[in-house]
Amino acid sequence: MPVVAANWKMYKTHTQARDFVGAFKAENCLGLGVTVIVCPSPVCVAAAGEAASGSDLGIGGQNMYTENEGAFTGEMSPVQLKAAGCKYVIIGHSERRKIFGEGDALLNRKLKACVREGLTPIFCVGETLEERDGGKTEAVVEEQLAKGLEGIPAATVAGFIVAYEPVWAIGTGRTATPEQAQEVHAFIRGFLKKLGAGADASVPVLYGGSVKPDNTPVLMKCPDVDGALVGGASLDPKSFAAIVRGAAAAKKQ
Ligand code: PEP
Repeated sequence: MPVVAANWKMYKTHTQARDFVGAFKAENCLGLGVTVIVCPSPVCVAAAGEAASGSDLGIGGQNMYTENEGAFTGEMSPVQLKAAGCKYVIIGHSERRKIFGEGDALLNRKLKACVREGLTPIFCVGETLEERDGGKTEAVVEEQLAKGLEGIPAATVAGFIVAYEPVWAIGTGRTATPEQAQEVHAFIRGFLKKLGAGADASVPVLYGGSVKPDNTPVLMKCPDVDGALVGGASLDPKSFAAIVRGAAAAKKQ
């Protein structure tokens, strides 16, 4: 099933999050054969979760620490996320990697914590513009995947979600062309195939980077693009609903 996930980053108050969920549900785009997830900032997760309860709208965190509780000021745990209604959590977003210095070893521990606590990670990988221009895209993505997933059995990875998010396309308005997206998605699919346990067939590989309602159809028609991780265009319920509808239509054909 295709997956469309919203990354709200550090936008919206808890009342705005609740209002979004109400307005989004009124768009009637759940039940179109797309798994739809919203990932609010941590202080809004519970409000969004309460507003979404009883519907098929999934809730996710944007980050979490590895431990369930303890003296980790400013962090949030998998147990807290689950209690607030999350089934999913974004791990390794490029803003976490770059601004907050999260490296592959920490992300590997975070992914293992997801497994331990039964949260589905949306594991993000992607190259910078410099790396792309230097012909290093596949090497960078492969290293992020290999180091992030190290020591996690293939059968477990088979239950994950992966997002390819070229850093140069995030929040820039510059989207990867369908050819560029398909090329890297096929590479990721090959990596998952080599892992085994049918992970290449079961793991949705999402594209993220300036996805908007108008470019959704062309991106979602790529055979190895299984959905989208959406930042800016997910903040408005009508825009996000249009992306969900676009993904549903493209994947039905
Ligand atoms: C993101 O933050 O994951 C993202 C893809 O952002 P945007 O859609 O705004 O490029």
